[in-house]
Amino acid sequence: GTDIGAQKDRVVTEEEWLQKWETGNIGFHKEQGHPLLQKYLDVLLNGRSGLRIFFPLCGKAVEMKWLADMGHSVVGVEVSEQALKEFFAEHSLPYCEEPVPEISGAKKFQSTSGNISLYCCSIYDLSSSIVGKFDGVWDRGALVAVNPCDRQRYVSLMITLMEKNSSYLLVTVSYDPNKHKGPPFYVPECEIKILFGNHCEIKCLQKVDDFSDRHRQWGLDYFLEVLYILKFVA
Ligand code: SAH
Repeated sequence: GTDIGAQKDRVVTEEEWLQKWETGNIGFHKEQGHPLLQKYLDVLLNGRSGLRIFFPLCGKAVEMKWLADMGHSVVGVEVSEQALKEFFAEHSLPYCEEPVPEISGAKKFQSTSGNISLYCCSIYDLSSSIVGKFDGVWDRGALVAVNPCDRQRYVSLMITLMEKNSSYLLVTVSYDPNKHKGPPFYVPECEIKILFGNHCEIKCLQKVDDFSDRHRQWGLDYFLEVLYILKFVA
């Protein structure tokens, strides 16, 4: 359906996200990485090598390491400094830390090898003049973690960060939004079309049943992941 119920007014603050990291309440993190990225990697890369790939709201996603190891250049953004430090520590990657002159209070963590740059700030502080434009995006736990009232702002920003002919893999979730307050928030397919439709071709690649005990404990009786490929046509 199109009704996102009470979720449209729900707001999760930055402070609450930091707290989730501090208390280890990070059930969203996938230690083994996401099978849908493995499966559809070719669709994202589309035969290209040496891409610039963006991970919005990256957490400590291990897929960043995968793509860097394949020779791509990875940029992420995350409000939790703890998450970023855990990422480098868990992969034994040396890094250096520097301020971002354009954004007060922000820091950039860069792997010593230079191919992973993670910005510690709110995504809304970024712009293409700071991070450049991207050939690919892996958006998992990102659009669905954005407060529903900020979706338009988030997508407008993402569109300004995309190169012509870039591809964007988007994972959303589908469940009854009257039974769980989120995040992750339910994002209906019609909303994807409204948000991105004027700027790209949208194709739904797969719907996966991802229902588990975790979702049962949330009070749900179904939970799907829905994968889209968005092509920013020239
Ligand atoms: N994409 C990751 C993390 C998903 S959870 C994964 O798949 O594992 C969402 C993450 O977004 C959290 O780590 C949270 O700290 C971060 N976050 C929330 N709001 C943000 C914002 N405005 N800017 C940057 N990061 C944000």
